[in-house]
Amino acid sequence: MQEPNNLIKPISTSLQERVIEQTKHFLESATNYYNREFKQIPVLFDLSGKAAGMYRVKAGQRVIRYNPYIFAKYFEDNFNETIPHEVAHYVTDILYGLGNIRPHGHEWKSVMQQFGVAAKRTASYDLGGVPLRNYQKYMYRCGCQDYELTSRRHNKVLRGIGHYLCRDCGGKLVFVKNMEKVG
Ligand SMILES: [Zn+2]
Ligand SMILES: [Zn+2]
Repeated sequence: MQEPNNLIKPISTSLQERVIEQTKHFLESATNYYNREFKQIPVLFDLSGKAAGMYRVKAGQRVIRYNPYIFAKYFEDNFNETIPHEVAHYVTDILYGLGNIRPHGHEWKSVMQQFGVAAKRTASYDLGGVPLRNYQKYMYRCGCQDYELTSRRHNKVLRGIGHYLCRDCGGKLVFVKNMEKVG
């Protein structure tokens, strides 16, 4: 399979662990400063597209998502800025409720200030080699055919919270290989 030679690889598991640790560090810092508990929430590396990070509440579940490709290309910047940026969204959600404030308003800025990080809304990066949304696909196979799964489904399989069955033979889909493309 041909691959563009400038394709960015997602960050390694050991770098993901550093990102998770740093996320915890800011949660602990907020817990100490605001004197209330900010629980550890799931940290996923399943974000694609142009955003480096995202804080999301869906069906009552809070998660922080990072883009493993943008982190790979600009690790230091994202380690130092994107992590506190997303944690600050979570902190303001707990303190005020997301519906009551502007996303990058003064509440969010004051958390960033408390973290000692400049409050920039977004960074603009050259994203050459970073797969854009919906382009990341993973080949899976059952006993009778191949399937292309999205990164969201692939991540669920990796984390052991999802598995997929063939609609024809009923066999379990097993990961074969990445089908990376650059959009
Ligand atoms: Zn933001
Ligand atoms: Zn099948």
